[in-house]
Amino acid sequence: MVVRCCCSSSSWSAAGAAVAARASANAPPPRSSSPSSRTSRRAMDPAAGAGRGRVRIAVVGDVHNDWALEEDSKALQFLQPDLVLFTGDYGNENVELVKSISDLQLPKAAILGNHDCWHTYQFSEKKADRVRLQLGSLGEQHVGYKCLDFPTIKLSVVGGRPFSCGGDRLFRPKLLLKWGVNDMAGSAKKIYDAATSAPEGHSVVLLAHNGPTGLGSRMDDICGRDWVPGGGDHGDPDLERAISDLQRETGVSIPLVVFGHMHKSLAYGRGLRKMIAFGANGTIYLNGAVVPRVRYAQASPSDEQNQPEGSASVAPTSRAFTIADLSEGRVEKISEVWVLVSGDRTELEEEIVLYKHPREHM
Ligand SMILES: [Zn+2]
Repeated sequence: MVVRCCCSSSSWSAAGAAVAARASANAPPPRSSSPSSRTSRRAMDPAAGAGRGRVRIAVVGDVHNDWALEEDSKALQFLQPDLVLFTGDYGNENVELVKSISDLQLPKAAILGNHDCWHTYQFSEKKADRVRLQLGSLGEQHVGYKCLDFPTIKLSVVGGRPFSCGGDRLFRPKLLLKWGVNDMAGSAKKIYDAATSAPEGHSVVLLAHNGPTGLGSRMDDICGRDWVPGGGDHGDPDLERAISDLQRETGVSIPLVVFGHMHKSLAYGRGLRKMIAFGANGTIYLNGAVVPRVRYAQASPSDEQNQPEGSASVAPTSRAFTIADLSEGRVEKISEVWVLVSGDRTELEEEIVLYKHPREHM
C-alpha cells in the first residue's frame, strides 16, 4: 500500500505533491507533524460508523462506463462507507449501468451529468427515453433539486442542477423544464429551497455534477477550464449563488460540496487538477472526478490458482473512490483511495490524503 499525505514533505510522488501543494494553497495552516503511514494492507482507518457522530462518505466520481457491481460492491464493503455519492456521467445514456448502480446495496444518492443526456434534448412524449429510464432506475436516490434525508447519520444530501455541463448557460434547458427551471436564478432558488427542507440538526452535503463558480480560474483550479489557453472559471453560477444565499440567510450547515465533471487529469497532459478547495463557513469543496476510475492489473499466479475451476477469469482491478470522513458534522479527512479487487481479495492499494483537519491527532 502506498500512503501519500498532503502534510508530508518527504514521501510524495510528483503527482501527489502537485495535488497536495495546490490543495494546501487555500487550506487551513499546514501541520508540522510527520506523515501518517499504515502497515496494514487489509484495513483503512477504523470505519467511521454511525456511532459517535462519525460518518464515512464514499464518492464515486464520473464513472464513464467504469463500474462493475460485483467488484465495486466488494471494494465498498472493504471501505465501509455509511453513504455512497455518485457525481454522474455514468456513460453516454448508459441505462443498464445506471440500473446496476441502483442495485448497489448501500445507502446512496446520485445525480445525472451532461453525458447522461448525451443524445436527448427533451423528454419524449411517445416512449420512455433513456433519460427518463435512468431517472426511473434511480428513483428517489436521484437528488437533483431535491433533499434526501439519512436520519441515522443526521445528514441530508441536496442535489444541484441535473445535466450540468459547466459555465454560465443551462445545458439541456428543455429537460430542466421537468423541474420548472427556466434560468440560472430559478435553478439557484430550487437548490436553495431543497436545502432549507433538510431536518433541523442535519448537516447538508450538496451533490452536483459540476462545482460552483468562485473557486478559481486557473486551468488546474477545481473547476478551471483546462482546454483553452488562459483557463477560466467553468463552475456553475447557480450553485455558487445557492450556497452563498444559504450561508448568508439560513443556519443550514454545509460541511461538504461534492461534484465531478472536470476531470483530475487536465487536457493535453497539462498536469493534475486541484481536487479540494476551501470556502466560507468551513465548507470544503471536493471534486471526485478521478477518470478513468479503474486500472486493470495482471493476475498473479496465486490469483489464478485460487480461481475456482471452470469459472471465468476476472482480471484484478484497482478501483478509485474518494473517501470523506466526517465527525460531528465536520470534515476530518479526505483521501483518494485505490482498492485492489482480485477475486474475493480486497486491499488498499494506494491512499492519497488530500486533507486532514488541522486539529486531528495523527
Ligand atoms: Zn460531465
